[in-house]
Amino acid sequence: MLSLGYKNPLPRTLTLHPSFSFPPFSVHLLIPMSMNALAIYAIAAGGIFAGLFLIQTLSILTNWTNLFSVLASRHLTLPFVVHRNRFWGLWSRASVLLHTSYVAVNVFLVLFRIESFTGAGHRAGELALVNLIFPLSATHLSFLADLLGITWHTCRRIHRAAGWMATALLAFHIIVAVQAQHFNFRLANISQGAASLGVLALFSIPWFRRWSYEIFLRGHQILAGLFVYGTWRHLPTKSSSPKLYLWIALGLLGLTSCLQLVTLLYQNGLFVGRGAPRAIISFTIRKSKENILTTTAAQIRILLPWPVKVEAGQYINLWIPLASLWSWTQTHPFTVTSWSQGRQDTMELLIQPHRGLSVELIRHASVAAESSVSFLALFTGPHGTSEDVSQYKSALLITSGFRVAAAIPYLKKMIYGYNTCTLQIRRLHLVWQVKSIDMTTAAQGLLNNLLEDDIIDEGYILNISIYVENGLAHNKTPFGKHERVCLYQGVPDYRSIISLEASGDQIERLPNIRDEQGRMLVMVSTADDLRDHIQEIVRGYLHQGVKLSEMEYQPNAG
Ligand SMILES: Cc1cc2nc3c(=O)[nH]c(=O)nc-3n(C[C@H](O)[C@H](O)[C@H](O)COP(=O)(O)OP(=O)(O)OC[C@H]3O[C@@H](n4cnc5c(N)ncnc54)[C@H](O)[C@@H]3O)c2cc1C
Repeated sequence: MLSLGYKNPLPRTLTLHPSFSFPPFSVHLLIPMSMNALAIYAIAAGGIFAGLFLIQTLSILTNWTNLFSVLASRHLTLPFVVHRNRFWGLWSRASVLLHTSYVAVNVFLVLFRIESFTGAGHRAGELALVNLIFPLSATHLSFLADLLGITWHTCRRIHRAAGWMATALLAFHIIVAVQAQHFNFRLANISQGAASLGVLALFSIPWFRRWSYEIFLRGHQILAGLFVYGTWRHLPTKSSSPKLYLWIALGLLGLTSCLQLVTLLYQNGLFVGRGAPRAIISFTIRKSKENILTTTAAQIRILLPWPVKVEAGQYINLWIPLASLWSWTQTHPFTVTSWSQGRQDTMELLIQPHRGLSVELIRHASVAAESSVSFLALFTGPHGTSEDVSQYKSALLITSGFRVAAAIPYLKKMIYGYNTCTLQIRRLHLVWQVKSIDMTTAAQGLLNNLLEDDIIDEGYILNISIYVENGLAHNKTPFGKHERVCLYQGVPDYRSIISLEASGDQIERLPNIRDEQGRMLVMVSTADDLRDHIQEIVRGYLHQGVKLSEMEYQPNAG
């Protein structure tokens, strides 16, 4: 007889044979117990040895970090492969290598062992979603960059590369789908999603950003939302893995948004119930020969209900909702020019007028030219990385225009380090290139504060060279009590400045004491072409212990 039912091979009840008996109680328990104890002992002993080995390896590697960083700078990050032009920025060997590997890995994953063209199309669609996890995982790039410990600039490059890769993969996915099948509901949805992504990619061209940053940003976010919606409707309900990628991206977005909200409430002191921060705005005004008043800069002091720790070079994203009709829709990044060893009760900012919110702010100068205006303000941050300045004997800070704001907190920190003998630093040189002498009045107070701080034991370490392109009557005009500030006509000769500083001759040394030359740090926050020029010069001095560092506030960072 044929039976289709499942026959259980095991009896339902277990009957012991009368001759069976359990092993004696003590032996039964002790064997596994002693084995466990031995295993724990072996793991603990092995763990201690592995830990010691790891610590030793890490300390050897840390000693070698300088060597690695010199090699990386000399062969990967500083040599240019593609020079900057109107359409794209500078491409170093490292960026070409990383981008090529990224493309190669994605092409390989699409084509590896494919059985059909349609299969490759499906895989490309899925891979596009995997690539989009990073760009969709946070609303705020500064916050994401902080979580990953990278600069805003690097985070933007990763965001852009992942976005373009996803667009290309999705375009391939759609081409394959169109060739393979007729137009249907699911294809209509992905076309809507892809159209959003395509427009979004086009909108990311720098021209749109410069034209109106706010429209670009909000448009970017709305189109990303439309893309997610279109893709969600396109994905088959049964297949779970592509939807899982969207879930991961949206889950990360929810998580980072919640974290960001809690950080914002904490940093703005909204938990402590002492009210919200206030922005006190004052202005630098220039009077022309014809008695016409022009506002050249704004200074903002943010009074904080809850003190905040800000590292040198960090910036905040500032929201002043009542400054103008549309200011509630905008946040803007500004470097914190104030620095202190501990937490700060007030943060200071130096603002250059452009076309948007910055101009709206300086319009208030007409009612408060001599005094100041006060607004409710909230901020996110402080964001951004801060260069470790502890290993350098000298530092050369090169800035142009209002980007001097980024150099000031570093100078403050290094002067403090010299005064308190907590840093090795022995020489500081600020080279500041400006278009006209008027620009210097905006930062005059900040520079005077630095000179006042730099007075310990008459051992001044700070020198300031200001190069004025137009309108200076005499070249080389030293001023100030100790002639630590010098005004020059024209543009600096960076090659000779860097060469002189790298020689170490400018560091004051005690007589009859053999002193190591020490390392030198070159920090830049300048226009793009000047930054490229300095990179090229510094490449020649890497073997002399010179390191180049770019500050967070860079011009094309918008
Ligand atoms: C890390 C960082 C630090 C900065 N620190 C300072 C500083 O200390 N002082 C200072 O004067 N400026 C600073 N800036 C530049 C400042 O953010 C812009 O000048 C300001 O946002 C311009 O606002 P706006 O509406 O008046 O400009 P617009 O005239 O609308 O735009 C001028 C330029 O600013 C860029 N921009 C506009 N809005 C934003 C935004 N929300 N985020 C990023 N870029 C934007 C645009 O791409 C454009 O290139 C910093 C920028 C960055 C990225």
